[in-house]
Amino acid sequence: MTETRCFEEDYININPLQTGGKTNSDTRKSIDSYIDGYSVCDFCAGSLHKIKKPDFEKLLNEISQFLGCDETIFTNGCREAKFAVLNSLCEKGDTVLIDENRHYSTDVAAELAGVKKEYVKNNGAPTFHINPEDYRKRIDETKPKLVILTHVDGNYGNIVDAEKVGKICREKNVPFLLNTAYSSGRMVIDNKKIGADFIACSCHKSWGVGGGTLGLLAINKKFDDKVFKTSVDYKKKILQILGCSARGSSTIALLNSFPSVRERVKKWNVEVDNAKWFIDNMISNEGIQLLGDYPHMHDVMHFETPKFDEIANKHKDKGYFLHKFLDKKGITGIIPGRTKSFKMSTYGYSRKQLEYLYESFLEALKL
Ligand SMILES: *Cc1c(COP(=O)(O)O)cnc(C)c1O
Repeated sequence: MTETRCFEEDYININPLQTGGKTNSDTRKSIDSYIDGYSVCDFCAGSLHKIKKPDFEKLLNEISQFLGCDETIFTNGCREAKFAVLNSLCEKGDTVLIDENRHYSTDVAAELAGVKKEYVKNNGAPTFHINPEDYRKRIDETKPKLVILTHVDGNYGNIVDAEKVGKICREKNVPFLLNTAYSSGRMVIDNKKIGADFIACSCHKSWGVGGGTLGLLAINKKFDDKVFKTSVDYKKKILQILGCSARGSSTIALLNSFPSVRERVKKWNVEVDNAKWFIDNMISNEGIQLLGDYPHMHDVMHFETPKFDEIANKHKDKGYFLHKFLDKKGITGIIPGRTKSFKMSTYGYSRKQLEYLYESFLEALKL
């Protein structure tokens, strides 16, 4: 049998990919009894998103309301949600306008859909900020079929004002896809204000979902016919998700995590305060700088750490010294061997845990 993994039980795990997808105990227990193949399909009448037992139909209606969208379906992940929109809206050779801070999966989805990519640039080091106003000029220049914005990027944890981009897209009459992989499920997303046509979500990243991977695609009903178009031969099967998407325990995980997700987004300000506190402490040390927006408004943060690199050059464990030292302290989630810069997340940790985390970094600075 594979070795047991106890990262979430035994460690403070600061891997940005993993902090918002951590499952609670109810979710874990519920997944267990749906672990067998196609177990969610016992009472399926042809559409996964309309199953009433377990009640996915009700869950997805509640999620549509929660996000301020008209309709929501499951996808296998955020990338599959983006691909579904790209592939149904665009013809081969059409242009799509994307922010430079995009996740690689946006590029890959666009490439597979056969579209031409144009970008809205960030302002470079050290903040790498995307200015929403730049979308206006770039839309005029590139005449895109679709605009994509990474609401919060995974490299710097910068938040872009999606309302402003939404307003520009409406003025210019271009469909707008908002990638909320690092925002929905963590903070309140109110699409009644943003006015995006499509919202892509990553539930294993930000909605406390385990038991596999899961995404959501929430849309404005104006695009229902195009994006949720069904097969000619199989009237209940949506083409862009090849009929059915996540037909396993991850959907059960969301059913069980959603009530707590709905509550936790209300406490986002606590997460932001904790992130700010942690950053201010870290950058008060010589040889540690923050990359990305400052003041920083998200738990994902990227430090440039020449000081740790200096230590690595002299240390017997070389670049691995930091990971090894933190491991001994019960901290994990930083890529082994990295000391020049690293990304981390403070999501879900108490101030006391973050004090311990900071003190451990202070000790590492003295190695
Ligand atoms: C993680 C991430 C994704 C990919 O999410 P999946 O659900 O795994 O497909 C997409 N976009 C951004 C910005 C991300 O950070």
